[in-house]
Amino acid sequence: MTIPRLLKEIENRKSEIIQLTSELIKIPTVNPPGKNYREICEYLSNRLKRSGFHVNILRAKGALADSDKYPRYNLIARHQGTYSGQCIHFNSHIDVVNAGNGWTRDPFGGTIEGDKIFGRGSCDMKGGLASSIVAAEAFIAIFPNYYGAIEISATADEETGGYGGVAWLAEKGHFSPKKVQHVIIPEPLNKDRICLGHRGVWWTEIETKGRVAHGSMPFLGDCAIRHMGAVLEEIENNLLPKLNTKKTKMPVVPEKAKKSTLNINSIHGGLEEVNETYNGLPAPLVADSCRMILDRRYLVEETLNEVKLEIYEILEKVKKNRPSLEYSVKDLFEVKPSFTDPKSNIVKTVEDSISEILGVKPEHVVSPGSYDQKHIDRIGKLKNCIAYGPGILELAHQPDEFILISDMMDSAKIMAMTISKLLNKNIIN
Ligand SMILES: [Zn+2]
Repeated sequence: MTIPRLLKEIENRKSEIIQLTSELIKIPTVNPPGKNYREICEYLSNRLKRSGFHVNILRAKGALADSDKYPRYNLIARHQGTYSGQCIHFNSHIDVVNAGNGWTRDPFGGTIEGDKIFGRGSCDMKGGLASSIVAAEAFIAIFPNYYGAIEISATADEETGGYGGVAWLAEKGHFSPKKVQHVIIPEPLNKDRICLGHRGVWWTEIETKGRVAHGSMPFLGDCAIRHMGAVLEEIENNLLPKLNTKKTKMPVVPEKAKKSTLNINSIHGGLEEVNETYNGLPAPLVADSCRMILDRRYLVEETLNEVKLEIYEILEKVKKNRPSLEYSVKDLFEVKPSFTDPKSNIVKTVEDSISEILGVKPEHVVSPGSYDQKHIDRIGKLKNCIAYGPGILELAHQPDEFILISDMMDSAKIMAMTISKLLNKNIIN
């Protein structure tokens, strides 16, 4: 049988998967600002070319955050099978968040200890990228004459919205359903779970306006912070309890994220905060402006319009009692919820592969926050997209982040089985 041969081939590549992950961690692709994208793309390009991939390194010129100092480089590699068929694409982001404090290992050392590889990005998601590469290479070695194509992309800026990465590539047609039929994003969602999508996002900045006056005679001014206080009271007493009653049917994890949520991201009113170079007192002023940033995560059962309306209704209600209130609402960022059909071929195929390798029925989950699937879905119009990869979700962005080598090996087997199920039998033409 060829499947045992494929699994054996992955087993034989264990030291490769370890080395590849460790070397990727050693390239510190910290974002922001977005360092070393070119270096990591070139490193991957050299490897994938050796395995017979046709490789393109593309700079997202003009995209958000792209600059000559910090250019946004992306890699797309394609391996064409002997016969025509479907294309399966593995998309991984190459950027990592800042290491932060609290590490007991070098965050960019790629240290190997027993079954663990430590480093910023080990779990989110260089371990997933390494697993998908080794899975594809092992598949190609065992089945050189397959149907269709395998693509691997390594993309910039996922941690900051994906505009210099997947969004840009999707705009250029790299995720069109004509070209690519299935996408797996190896984000660290745990090796026995399939992530079908994410909730929606609306970030907004609300500003209340007042009139400046001397702080000793506040009655001559109009305090924007007090206006915002009234808005906050409405949010606290009415909106948050209302959101708590809305629950989605989507399998969002953790459990509490099945409800609609609102985070008060930041608030600032009055004079600019003094910095460390100034140690004097503030000036006595009535605040003429107060700004608050809200991070609203909404459910597939809600519409963005109704989400926005909730905020406008609060502001109008507050204005009734405070006629001098002037306000503005600015949209900062919006993403619609994304949810791949659990009956789609890619979900079913990965599900079967997980059952066969791990002997468990995989759990379907939906992510509380969004990831690059949003661009593949909305811009690319490609619906057969899931996140599946090794790594423990809770370790992402933490100090002493690590990935288990055994998880990567299992996931690589599951990915290789999935490729085999899709490209050894599905023939177009
Ligand atoms: Zn990630």
